[in-house]
Amino acid sequence: MRNTPDVRQWFPSDDGNPDKRELMMRLIGQILTGADALKDPDSVYLKGTKRRSGSFYNDLLLESEIPGQGVPMEQVGDRLLELLHAHPYHTKYFLTNILPMASIPGILGMITAFIVNGNNLWDVYGPAGAEAEVKVIGMMSKLVGYDPLQSGGYTSWGGQGAIFTGLRIAISKFVPDAMANGVPDRLYAFCSEAAHYSLFKSMEATGLGSRNLVKVRTKADSSMDVADLCDKMESVIRKGGVPVYIVATTGTTDALGIDNVREIYEAAKAVSQAHGLKRPHIHADSALGGFFAFFNDYDFAANPLALQPETLKALQTIQGRMTHLGMADSLCFDFQKLGQTPYLTSLLLVKDAADLRLLDLDPDETPYVGHRGYGQYHTGYTLECSRMASSISMYSALLAFGVEGYQRLLAQFVDVNLAFRRELASQIPEAVIVNPDNPGLVTLFRIYPGGGRSFREELSGSCTLTEIRQTNALNEKLFETLGERRDRMFFGDTKKHLIVPTADGGHIALYAAKFFVISPYTQVEHVSGIVRYLKEIIAQVYESDEIQSDTGGTVGVGA
Ligand SMILES: *Cc1c(COP(=O)(O)O)cnc(C)c1O
Repeated sequence: MRNTPDVRQWFPSDDGNPDKRELMMRLIGQILTGADALKDPDSVYLKGTKRRSGSFYNDLLLESEIPGQGVPMEQVGDRLLELLHAHPYHTKYFLTNILPMASIPGILGMITAFIVNGNNLWDVYGPAGAEAEVKVIGMMSKLVGYDPLQSGGYTSWGGQGAIFTGLRIAISKFVPDAMANGVPDRLYAFCSEAAHYSLFKSMEATGLGSRNLVKVRTKADSSMDVADLCDKMESVIRKGGVPVYIVATTGTTDALGIDNVREIYEAAKAVSQAHGLKRPHIHADSALGGFFAFFNDYDFAANPLALQPETLKALQTIQGRMTHLGMADSLCFDFQKLGQTPYLTSLLLVKDAADLRLLDLDPDETPYVGHRGYGQYHTGYTLECSRMASSISMYSALLAFGVEGYQRLLAQFVDVNLAFRRELASQIPEAVIVNPDNPGLVTLFRIYPGGGRSFREELSGSCTLTEIRQTNALNEKLFETLGERRDRMFFGDTKKHLIVPTADGGHIALYAAKFFVISPYTQVEHVSGIVRYLKEIIAQVYESDEIQSDTGGTVGVGA
């Protein structure tokens, strides 16, 4: 016989009684214990198997039904844990991309937010989220050199959301009636060839179209070539266009190239002024790299954390660029990247809070919330309506880590990355580091066919399209071979590192494998094992390449 269901069974208590609390602790304990039982520090995947046949997702669609009678919560816990089987996990061999582990304070902050489940749209509905959001805006504004009483911001849907909002602000600055009458097509945006594709998408979403997005050349260090920016702005203006938006990538997602915000600011101002135009809105896409601003006040001479000389030098180089972040009109911190909080915790900051007002709704348009006699904080300018209070997670992490905690973590990542570079150079000379001037968390490396051309020759434009395609194909084979064993070590790769000119007058992007230090569990002492493994894989790739060219009758790869 079934018990009479009491609908309260699925909810936390309203009176703080210990029985409900213990039930919740037990259920959370079940998840933590279950996840721990799946962990293996020498593998990148949690234990358990998933047979991902070609019809995997199709089968799921057909099998899945809502149960008529609810499943007891312990059994739900078991089913949830099954989802985690063979899931990638951030062990020491997780080396693929900017996909961090969520820290304990980050997770606790989320749980805190979930307990009251406030709606961060309005402080009357979500006062905890509003308070945490304002605190985090104050903290991060000071970090980048914004005046916290002048600046503003909000938590949003990712670095991409920040780029999109920056573009909306830029449009409103130049065409105040665009909100009512639509976006004129003479407006242009600029970013470097190495920028994230977020701006490409934003151009589409605002109706400007990606044709009005101008890609600026990058230098060998993956940073924007500011002289080319000036030329391209001039050429847009000559054709009757108006440059309204520049995204300066301060930490590219692949190579950690860092655009010089100061140079971009000054160049953009000079070109616009010369034509009697307003300076374009400058957004620093610091989603990833902005966290290096934690070194803005580090005493590099006294070196209180006793960082290794090479690490110190690398951090100083990066900080030298990050120090200009405060010149940007808006910027972003993806806490789900180097802030060590769960998805989705992204913060948009604007130097001048009045910029957000450009996007605000008229009070008549928001009859349900805000602009009433009560409540002082209503985010009518966000693209979202309801918003999660992700600021509570950011706040929690900022408190727990503190400036020094973030400094130590980032310094460890850099330490490990530099150790990898040294070991790679000494053990696998055929793997060439192709972002040598970006000393952060990422090493991109590229292998070359025996007797093939060099990276330097590729950069100088003396290689043919065919030669570079062959080297790319060899590297693609390396990606595939590494990918087959990514449960063992999970490396990343990119098919768009630097676009180089070719001897035959074309352009082509270079493929490179990626070593991304993102797990706090990857330590310097693990580097030699990682490089030994890579050496075996690379040897296999060369071997199979020769076999293919012998038996297949083709010469080299990718022919
Ligand atoms: C990750 C990233 C983005 C996109 O951020 P999301 O949070 O994934 O939307 C944009 N720009 C850069 C430089 C990034 O690293």
